[in-house]
Amino acid sequence: MQRAVKLASVKGASNWLTTLPLNEHGFALHKSAFQDALALRYSWPPLRTPTLCACGASFSVDHVLSCPKGGLPSLRHNEIRDLTATLLTEVCSQVCTEPELQPVHNPDEFHLSTSNTQEGARLDIAMNGFWGSRSERCFIDVRVFNPLAPSNSSSSLSSTFKKHENIKRQAYGQRIREVEHASFTPIIMSATGGLAHEAIVFYKRLASLLSAKWGDEYSVVLGWLRCCLGFSLLRSAIQCIRGARSSIGAYTRAPPPMDLVQVESHLSE
Ligand SMILES: [Zn+2]
Repeated sequence: MQRAVKLASVKGASNWLTTLPLNEHGFALHKSAFQDALALRYSWPPLRTPTLCACGASFSVDHVLSCPKGGLPSLRHNEIRDLTATLLTEVCSQVCTEPELQPVHNPDEFHLSTSNTQEGARLDIAMNGFWGSRSERCFIDVRVFNPLAPSNSSSSLSSTFKKHENIKRQAYGQRIREVEHASFTPIIMSATGGLAHEAIVFYKRLASLLSAKWGDEYSVVLGWLRCCLGFSLLRSAIQCIRGARSSIGAYTRAPPPMDLVQVESHLSE
């Protein structure tokens, strides 16, 4: 519970509790989602959960937040990527998601020994004009880690954030600089809310660019942005607890063309 309370006290991790639950702004949780959110906040076991995960392991919150079965952690990552890319299109040019990196023909020449030099490697978002002038390109890569996983829970939260930032930087920082002639920003966040240092700086810059474009106050835009990220992470965490992880196929028959049916059958209201 100490760990959970520490996680909840990270800036932005408790926005869902202090924001008015207005559905039209996407800030509302239904009743059982609210109960799950409280359970996550205080490390209480969520109610009415199965005994086993779909992968066969015993069901626990720390397991389901990172269990890859059913692809739920990937959906969590993709939501943050898409939300960020959508907002970047407001203020940057040439925004694209999943950009493929140029091939590295001679890793030794660039001293890329610690980098990921795989052909076909992709990062999450690339855009021009975020840091610096309009022709400067930046690549970002998002990682949402599970702070309750055994590999993360033994060290302090700040060093866990730093560790994940360093892993991403080592994998891509030098390759992006040497081959793409661009800059690299890792976006690291915890699945229960809270951002690493570089992600904080990134979203502050994004809020500043958006506030200049929209003519709204910087603090209001930054607060709204933190809230959007917080709700996205919270919904994804609840989805990891409640989501079905098995596929049962898809029914593909299209619905009948209603306008045609109505005319041809003389249907009355
Ligand atoms: Zn599992």
